Amino acid sequence: MLFDDVHRVGISVRGIVQGVGFRPFVYQLATKHNLKGWVCNTSGDVKIDVEGEKAALDRFLADLKVLAPPLARIQGVTTRREPTVGYKHFEIRDSISEKGKYQLISPDIATCQACLNEVLDSKDRRYRYPFTNCTNCGPRFTIIEDIPYDRPKTTMRNFKMCPQCQQEYDDPLNRRFHAQPNACPICGPRLQLVDSRGKLVSEGDALRTASKLLQEVRILAIKGLGGFLLACDATSERAIQLLRERKKRPSKPLAIMLATTKDVKEHCQVSSIEEELLTSPPCPIVLLRWKAGSSVSPAVAPRLNYLGVMLPYTPLHHVLLRETGLPLVMTSGNLSEEPIAKDNEEALRRLNGIADYFLLHNRDIYARYDDSVAIVERDRPQLIRRARGYAPYPIHLRFKSKPVLACGAELKNTFCLTKDDYAFLSQHIGDMENLETLEHFETTVELYKSLFRIQPKIIAYDMHPEYLSTKYAKAIAEESPDIKFVPVQHHHAHIVSCLVDNGLEQPVIGVAFDGTGFGSDGHIWGGEFLVADYRGFQRLGHFQYVPLPGGAAAIERPYRMAISYLVTLLGEDALNQNLPFLRQVDSLEVDLIRKQIKGGINSPLTSSCGRLFDAVSALIGLRGRIDYEAQAAIELEMLADESETGSYPFSIIEQKGINIVHFDELFSAIIADIREGVSPANISMKFHRTMARVVVQMCQHLSNNTGIKKVALSGGVFQNRLLLRLAVAALEGAGLEVLTHGEVPVNDGGVSVGQAVIANFAQGRD
Ligand SMILES: [Zn+2]
Ligand SMILES: [Zn+2]
Repeated sequence: MLFDDVHRVGISVRGIVQGVGFRPFVYQLATKHNLKGWVCNTSGDVKIDVEGEKAALDRFLADLKVLAPPLARIQGVTTRREPTVGYKHFEIRDSISEKGKYQLISPDIATCQACLNEVLDSKDRRYRYPFTNCTNCGPRFTIIEDIPYDRPKTTMRNFKMCPQCQQEYDDPLNRRFHAQPNACPICGPRLQLVDSRGKLVSEGDALRTASKLLQEVRILAIKGLGGFLLACDATSERAIQLLRERKKRPSKPLAIMLATTKDVKEHCQVSSIEEELLTSPPCPIVLLRWKAGSSVSPAVAPRLNYLGVMLPYTPLHHVLLRETGLPLVMTSGNLSEEPIAKDNEEALRRLNGIADYFLLHNRDIYARYDDSVAIVERDRPQLIRRARGYAPYPIHLRFKSKPVLACGAELKNTFCLTKDDYAFLSQHIGDMENLETLEHFETTVELYKSLFRIQPKIIAYDMHPEYLSTKYAKAIAEESPDIKFVPVQHHHAHIVSCLVDNGLEQPVIGVAFDGTGFGSDGHIWGGEFLVADYRGFQRLGHFQYVPLPGGAAAIERPYRMAISYLVTLLGEDALNQNLPFLRQVDSLEVDLIRKQIKGGINSPLTSSCGRLFDAVSALIGLRGRIDYEAQAAIELEMLADESETGSYPFSIIEQKGINIVHFDELFSAIIADIREGVSPANISMKFHRTMARVVVQMCQHLSNNTGIKKVALSGGVFQNRLLLRLAVAALEGAGLEVLTHGEVPVNDGGVSVGQAVIANFAQGRD
């Protein structure tokens, strides 16, 4: 002991505290309070050792939590009294690598205001430099190969800092102190513009040439943070049609990027919460109501009322958007449903024939990372696609978990690994329908296992035998006798994902509405009313079963579902009423569909809510064939005339203790409306109101029987914002509490979280 009033404390800080300017912050704080000692990163936490007067130490500890840098997320601080050693100064020590330990990793973060100011300042040495970043912004997850997070373990390792950058990096008072991707035009990554054959077009000012080409209505593949985006002039129908043709994406909506919030307001209605979300550090695509009179071509999102908009999130985007002076389409650099291309050569190969020019750079992307997509409903953001800016930050669990890998669903796949009180929900992987996506899935699983030091002892998977994610799980099962395997019902996983998202554990009434999910009885579920918690579920109600004639064919051609409903509920005669939609269908196909339904040939039974929306969309002549998932249902939602107050009849009949929703009256009434010339917009609204009434009647009934007052809404159908609003209002009006999604996607992108939690409990809790 040196002095009686000098104390020493060892501190451990957990959370996102590395790569976010935390050590310089600690350095400055310690210096301010005249404390001596050191701070360092380890594989598991940030360790601080400080010595000084007791009062100063107390103030230091209090400030540590309150004044932490903007991107830090402190999850826990532990302190321990230590014998004093008489430190002479405060220093930042080298990182310590510890076996088996792990730490949270920051997602990639959009360019901060301070960096943007430099990029736009013609006198700054980083003027127009596309790779400008600091400890408050820039790439993180996409460049990290291993922890602790230090430059040699990132894809920046090959860039040796120039003296000026090194000085910034070494100066604890600089915004770039230990900013691992720190770079400048002298020493950092560079752009290159090449044509579709890989031939150099421009190096010196590739960005200016790229801007010019975009103004000349060319399609560019641009290497960004987590992969390539395809860009073109969003006001040019010609450019967009060409992009659609080449990308084989006839009408699926494309996202656009606008330079500033002011520009966004020119094209879209923006609420204050939406504005906050647009400009937040993750900078997601936000689906906004599209204004009439916007110069953005309708071809960007045909027949839709919403536009997916994001602001620039790297200096490259900022400069490009300002110099072109145009709204730009920015869509994933891939061919239809393949994963986003990330490497230069890969892009030149895979995007050959799509892009006219390629804006490349020489900073490698380690992890593929799509743009995130969000909406604001019920005054809070809801992630529809969770990737850039969010993953790999975990979802917080209210219990201590086991090491589980949950393999997720087929479409919009994500996986989830659990450890401690964290659920590491992966970034959006994609539709697991091709080998490229499966490979992306496998590589990313390995990356998360290694970054977060997780060796799964339990593997959860969907009951659907044909999902590639299920097959992946089963292949591991054959080789790993020590691992437990837990099949999880799809809609149970949806409801539990919503519970986790709301930090709840107790049983709820779960309304799971989606397109397709394999049921415990072997049928295809999707209009489900469950009572569920982490440990199990009871199916207390569902939509009546109808055949799905032709399986996948019925999903691609919604008129098949309309015919199925009519024949099954109203009899064969329903097809002889000269309904307009049937004129679009070949009579031979109608006969075939009839035979499939009658004979049960390739016609699994389904209670899918998504298919019911499809059927109605086709029946009113809106959309009989789709070219992207859920198109018929989405266009039905867009069409609805909200001033219509009517709805249709339906009935709920109990059979063997299960409440079945019957729709024969609904279809008779819609046919009557069609005959009377009621507009499709009014029929759509009446149908939406009917669905909300189905939800509230069933939930009230189940609530009376079970005493449960909480209702969780989950499944892809609840991306229908009109239905969501109507259902929430009706349920709340009936005195029920409604849980909806936030951080965990409502669609199949959230299923893996539910699977992981269910598997934790299926094995008994430690
Ligand atoms: Zn910055
Ligand atoms: Zn430099």
